[in-house]
Amino acid sequence: MTNGHQLRLYNSLGRRVEDFIPSGDVTGMYSCGPTVYAYPHLGNMRAYVFADTVRRALRWKGVRVRHVVNITDVGHAVSDADTGEDKMEVAAARERRSVLEIAEFYTRAFFDDLAALNVLPADEYPRASAYVPQMIEFAATLQARGYTYQLPSGLYFDTAKDPRYGELAQLHAEGQREAARVEQVEGRRRKTDFALWRTEEPGRRRVLRWDSPWGWGTPGWHLECSVMSIALLGPHFDIHTGGIDHRELHHVNEIAQSEAFLADGKPWVRYWLHNEFLQLGAAKMAKSAGGAPRLADLTEAGYHPAAFRLFLLGGHYRSQLDFTPAALDAAQATLRRLVARIQPLRPLPPVESLAAASPDDPAAVRALDLIDAAISADFNTPKILAALQDALRDPDITAAGLRTVTAAADALLGLGLAILDPAELAGRRAEADLTEAERHTIEQLVAARTQARKERDWPRADQIRAQLDDLGVQVTDTPEGPTWQLR
Ligand code: AMP
Ligand code: ZN
Repeated sequence: MTNGHQLRLYNSLGRRVEDFIPSGDVTGMYSCGPTVYAYPHLGNMRAYVFADTVRRALRWKGVRVRHVVNITDVGHAVSDADTGEDKMEVAAARERRSVLEIAEFYTRAFFDDLAALNVLPADEYPRASAYVPQMIEFAATLQARGYTYQLPSGLYFDTAKDPRYGELAQLHAEGQREAARVEQVEGRRRKTDFALWRTEEPGRRRVLRWDSPWGWGTPGWHLECSVMSIALLGPHFDIHTGGIDHRELHHVNEIAQSEAFLADGKPWVRYWLHNEFLQLGAAKMAKSAGGAPRLADLTEAGYHPAAFRLFLLGGHYRSQLDFTPAALDAAQATLRRLVARIQPLRPLPPVESLAAASPDDPAAVRALDLIDAAISADFNTPKILAALQDALRDPDITAAGLRTVTAAADALLGLGLAILDPAELAGRRAEADLTEAERHTIEQLVAARTQARKERDWPRADQIRAQLDDLGVQVTDTPEGPTWQLR
């Protein structure tokens, strides 16, 4: 194969699609990690499946990566604007556990979800609590350089000192469009100024606390990402990822403080990539205690984690996605069909990079080129899926060619097509799991549809079929009358 298409990606810094040119032998990549005070929800996992897609794309292009994902176990105030209590401490009080136990428990839950979703492990998962001395040093350097001012509530970064402040968010003069969630802080000069250190209030001793030149307290949330990424990837690195919400505030502040700290006139990070949100509002599904749905809710309902991954990759990362049970049902059905089709082709060869793919069959060469073009065009995973499905239907492709194409698509998609067990992808729920009431409802709907058909009321019959469809019920008309089954 040739070197393929140039990898191009949408850089939030400048808001345009650009060629990706690595700056060295190893590309440094940092992804903002979770705050471990609660289970990660399905939206959070979209951010890590996206980062994983970037990893897989770079591997495909033969680019070596060093990937760091932080674990925020201290410093994230209840409000992103640095006011209020620490999220970890609130959770500890709520669950009557120690902050350490809370952090450990939810970090493990995060790792479990990453593994279930077949996300490639990062090289490092630094915990913020282990880097507090470095954070204090970093803040002290900014203070020495005149970038800060001190208030009773802590040490603040003075955004007026940074003429390029807010470039990433395209904030206009003096941060007129600053993020809506920024709240009032007594004495703060500009609303965009943010805490580097949060000093504990007199008489309110925090559980997590460190001594610093600005009194006992905790580091500001933004500080940890600058400090840990620079510590583990060097002063400058190529790629920084996160959810789109971070583009407006957290990453803006990371850039401001890092560039003030490095003071070398160079942009701190070259490519900023942000995934759009997964909208969870539309979901009508059992929620875990009070929170947004998480992966375990899906697996308990009989979905395979790979079906959720397929659902995510079926949309482009820069488009919002609505999470609905119907969409997830469709994803699981697609995955089931894919695996059934691919199973006879197993074992698949290892094809993790374009260079490792060498088919001699023209139909396979064409399919690989489509896949390479799709990943190179700002990580277009829906197009990779379409190219795979087309190849699987192509009468001209050889079995060997198809093996290569399937392995290549899956190296990028990470669905586990080479090993997934079709038995694990059976219908969403077994019929035996239906409650008496659910069964009754289904049978009444089926009977009502039969009646409507007898009366030749086709619109009503269709409407009832759609209702059944929403319940995951498939009706088949046989000479003996209709039968139904769960999809
Ligand atoms: P947090 O634990 O809140 O710091 O979030 C972890 C990651 O998930 C960050 O990159 C967020 O931007 C991202 N994120 C949060 N909610 C969503 C969502 N609904 N859809 C996609 N990404 C999200
Ligand atoms: Zn961060």
